[in-house]
Amino acid sequence: MRQDDSDCDYVIVGGGTAGWITAGVLASRFPRRGAEGMSITLIEARGLPPIGVGEGTWPTVRSTLKQIGISETDFLRECDASFKQGTQFFNWVDGGDADRYYHPFTLPAGYEDKNLAPYWLDGPKSSSFAASVCFQTALCDAGLAPKLISTPEYTGLANYAYHLDAAKFAPFLQKHCVEKLGVRHVYDEIVRVQSDETGDIAYLDMKSGEQFAADLFIDCSGFSSLLIGKHFGVPFLAQRDCLFIDRAWAVQTPYATEDAPIASVTQSTALSCGWVWDIGLTTRRGVGYVFSSAHVSDDAALEELKRYLAAKGDATAALSFRKIDINAGYRQEYWRRNCVAVGLSAGFLEPLEASAIVMIELSAKSIANLLPGCRDAMPRAAQLFNETFRYRWERIIDFLKLHYVLSGRTDSPFWVDNRRSESIPESLRYSLEYWRHHCPWHEDFSHREEVFSAASYQYILYGMGFETETPASLLNDQDRPLALEKMNETARHAKALQSSLPANRELLAKIRRFGLQKI
Ligand SMILES: Cc1cc2nc3c(=O)[nH]c(=O)nc-3n(C[C@H](O)[C@H](O)[C@H](O)COP(=O)(O)OP(=O)(O)OC[C@H]3O[C@@H](n4cnc5c(N)ncnc54)[C@H](O)[C@@H]3O)c2cc1C
Repeated sequence: MRQDDSDCDYVIVGGGTAGWITAGVLASRFPRRGAEGMSITLIEARGLPPIGVGEGTWPTVRSTLKQIGISETDFLRECDASFKQGTQFFNWVDGGDADRYYHPFTLPAGYEDKNLAPYWLDGPKSSSFAASVCFQTALCDAGLAPKLISTPEYTGLANYAYHLDAAKFAPFLQKHCVEKLGVRHVYDEIVRVQSDETGDIAYLDMKSGEQFAADLFIDCSGFSSLLIGKHFGVPFLAQRDCLFIDRAWAVQTPYATEDAPIASVTQSTALSCGWVWDIGLTTRRGVGYVFSSAHVSDDAALEELKRYLAAKGDATAALSFRKIDINAGYRQEYWRRNCVAVGLSAGFLEPLEASAIVMIELSAKSIANLLPGCRDAMPRAAQLFNETFRYRWERIIDFLKLHYVLSGRTDSPFWVDNRRSESIPESLRYSLEYWRHHCPWHEDFSHREEVFSAASYQYILYGMGFETETPASLLNDQDRPLALEKMNETARHAKALQSSLPANRELLAKIRRFGLQKI
């Protein structure tokens, strides 16, 4: 490795979402390239296509795309993308008719310095927790967009992310990275990994006979985990005992009419042995049932998904259903010697709460921040990266499991088994015990950049009817009127936006025609 990061050669293995986001983040961060500067080469095997699923994102993706230099208008147009303002959960609590709640992206009112949750819990609860503290639920109920045509790119009147066509996203990023950022793109298949005498990866032997050497190899090879898993043999820590989902049926379904509304949330509906994602793009919906094969057969799960679709008015006869295996877990290390894993090669849990692409973004940014100036400094960069991402995987598991633990469903062993204490991480059990007497708040989390903050925990806990017995000493009589005023203000703000924001589909169509104002 040379003295200066900007002189190094980076090889990225894999041309899925992970590979191209990582290429884009690194290339935009270190623009000086060419004979004198850094080189970034991305290799992918033509015969091994990217996984082609992963349509829900997290609001961080806006700053990632902006950093890479992508226009929001181009992205929305070319990836058939739509606005996502959070997730709406159906049938997760008891499966009854009124069983629904939101996890919106906009933070609760006063979130910087005022915890409204104790005051909502101590009040009449005339509307749901999320609706009381966050104006965004009203926008989602009404199917509205989070911005106006005059709102500049990447800014919004409510916090938002996107739903996107995964099969179009990677090629879209590829074009930008190659044409605008100077990333070299090679179609070839790795057949052997060659080490040097220290154990570092020296170069990759390709099917074509070519060899690729690099200072740092970034493993974005998906579930095959070629470098970190197969070459280095870093153990895979399976999480199957905690998160039971291990299979998916995925399908794409057309809208009934060209002007059918586009939901601006991911709809997540609990079924007997898992849950269904339902995501509206501009051109079609992407739907899938993730389930536990220990609790339901593939055939029965497919029938259940078809019943879900039929109830939504979808004709299922002509649809083509794809089965995908999921092995919940992550690697014991992500950065070993001169190799770091990003994306599915590092791990995957399940798509509830769309935490995979955000982990890719965080990994890519972290690599860019930690890149050591010389090989001698790499062990410390690896150690910091490994500690941070181990913490993140563990916290994501806590957050995903929370949804299952709080469910009161008893209609199948899947839901009952999910509440067995031996399947619940100790860290989550401790937190839940604490939150019985204390509403989640900033101090409960130790990292500066948490994937799921106190706000997310509040939305899930109180959306699912969790009881916190707030001690009277924590309710301040001076703050109470302030808290009530913030909730009233939330309702007024929701009303004002409801009368000014366009429907999701209407805005997306306008953007296709006129584009958004660049910033
Ligand atoms: C059912 C399901 C639903 C999901 N939903 C979401 C969601 O809503 N939100 C979210 O954030 N994430 C979601 N994900 C995760 C998301 O799909 C992935 O995180 C994302 O697509 C990144 O994949 P990847 O780039 O790591 O791997 P892949 O897309 O699998 O790409 C692997 C690449 O490695 C290359 N490769 C493999 N072997 C070789 C070789 N020998 N030589 C050269 N190249 C090679 C391939 O050519 C390919 O380009 C979902 C995943 C599943 C399974």
